[in-house]
Amino acid sequence: MELSPVCTEECVIKSDRGHRKSKVSRDVEIDIEVLYKAVPQLAKVFRITDKIGEGTFSSVYLGEAQMRDGRREMFALKHLIPTSHPTRIAAELQCLTVAGGRENVMGVMYCFRKEDHVVIVMPYMEHQAIVDIIGSLSFEEVRLYIYHLLKALRHIHQFGIIHRDIKPNNFLYNRNTKMYALVDFGLAQGTADTQIELLKDLTGLRKVPRPVFGERNLNSCTPAPSTTKQAAIKTELVKPGRTEDPVSRRYSSASRGPLPVRTQSSSQKPQRSVHQSLTCNCHLTDRVCNICMSRKQQVAPRAGTPGFRAPEVLTKCPNQGTAIDVWSAGVILLSLLSGRYPFFKASDDLIALTQIMTIRGSRETIQAAKTFGKAVLCSRELPRQDLRTLCETLRGRRPSPDDEVTPLTEGSKDSPATLHHKIQGDSPTHRPTEGTFKKHKDGAGETPRPLSNRTRLQAHQDRSGCTKTSTHPAKQTSETDCMVQDDERGWDKVPDEAYDLLDRLLDLNPATRITAAQALQHPLFKDL
Ligand code: ADP
Ligand code: MG
Ligand code: ZN
Repeated sequence: MELSPVCTEECVIKSDRGHRKSKVSRDVEIDIEVLYKAVPQLAKVFRITDKIGEGTFSSVYLGEAQMRDGRREMFALKHLIPTSHPTRIAAELQCLTVAGGRENVMGVMYCFRKEDHVVIVMPYMEHQAIVDIIGSLSFEEVRLYIYHLLKALRHIHQFGIIHRDIKPNNFLYNRNTKMYALVDFGLAQGTADTQIELLKDLTGLRKVPRPVFGERNLNSCTPAPSTTKQAAIKTELVKPGRTEDPVSRRYSSASRGPLPVRTQSSSQKPQRSVHQSLTCNCHLTDRVCNICMSRKQQVAPRAGTPGFRAPEVLTKCPNQGTAIDVWSAGVILLSLLSGRYPFFKASDDLIALTQIMTIRGSRETIQAAKTFGKAVLCSRELPRQDLRTLCETLRGRRPSPDDEVTPLTEGSKDSPATLHHKIQGDSPTHRPTEGTFKKHKDGAGETPRPLSNRTRLQAHQDRSGCTKTSTHPAKQTSETDCMVQDDERGWDKVPDEAYDLLDRLLDLNPATRITAAQALQHPLFKDL
């Protein structure tokens, strides 16, 4: 492939922006003009036709260039926000240049810069959004998808790269060509022995935790909320310190909303000090005492997307490794096996932790957290769920024990005894607030329940694109049709190995969690 990164006179380049088809919105057109102005060299090489991605830290554009041999090639142009730290940008590039271009990891072709504007040029890979195709995926496709994701993870982990933001949006999948590509090293970090030099330089760059948009600042405790509605489950993460030195402690509390959660970190003496410093009397209450108020902030990396964060990230464990990416791969597998995306939809870390406990069990979570020096307090025991039963129920393949249920929605008025974690199961058809799990009408704290029959049917409709409504007499036919389609996609014979792998990916303890390399050797992939 030939393309001149710096345009010279002999470059065969068409930059006929004027001929750009005007199917893009005016806003996008303006953004493209602004990009051409910010990095004028681009205009000599690319005809930018669309914006294909927009995130907090970048915008990604589709660009076309004419190659020397006359072919036209498509590129993805990632324009990083100008405020990105130069080392951050360089590290992202280095991950792509060193590890990219093979093993399902996106490669990089060029990089353009003018002043503080940087554009990373990658080969364009057409892909489908998981949210759009989750309803029609076969089990075999899911198996291959996870296999290829694990391959990418094994590869980057060999380089000592922790991606930190593994989620379907960052793992491009082309269903037709069966191509896969891991993208977005914008949050990557290095392991202690990373081979990516610039990742070493990142240490210390983000020492001060920034409030993340849309998330509660866990460290700014407010007095008891005046609202009478409180959650039934209080999960607490409390950081102990030496009791004689309260200032040396740190405390995180969510004192508002559905889930008062606290963790206690005992990073100095992980195993022993977990219980010894619960000396204040505010734990499991909705108040924050002065001792806790004066605790220092816990600093640990927590970049990523809440629903995909591993327990050790959610509890701010300072020692985080490549296992956090494996956890995220587990959440993706859980999502694909259950047909629910996103699976965990949490607005903050403590809600996310409670959602994990709902699936993996509170006792197990508390036990695992202890091993990495965190004390988690949960007001009520949440039993561990059987993964096959859970996924099959969410797929509508198993009867739900309770049809008379109320949707569990964010902001709903729940009694203090109400179980308030929500495992949101937004369907591809975007039912925004329908929870995957339901609670009893009486509002009493309940273990998560599978979908009601009605929701089950909707799940079928979502998956298969069936449009008949559940209230119509044709319901039965519709449901049967959907089930048949589901069976054809192999969902009637998901092997135990799939759930066994899921169980190992979602190991609450990062020390025993399967690695990507080990996972590729799992019996689920024996024929690959
Ligand atoms: P951000 O840091 O803003 O999330 P990403 O690198 O994840 O940036 O890119 C955002 C989106 O742009 C991706 O989710 C994907 O849809 C699209 N994208 C990124 N790189 C490519 C590529 N090489 N080919 C096609 N689409 C891409
Ligand atoms: Mg991204
Ligand atoms: Zn306290």
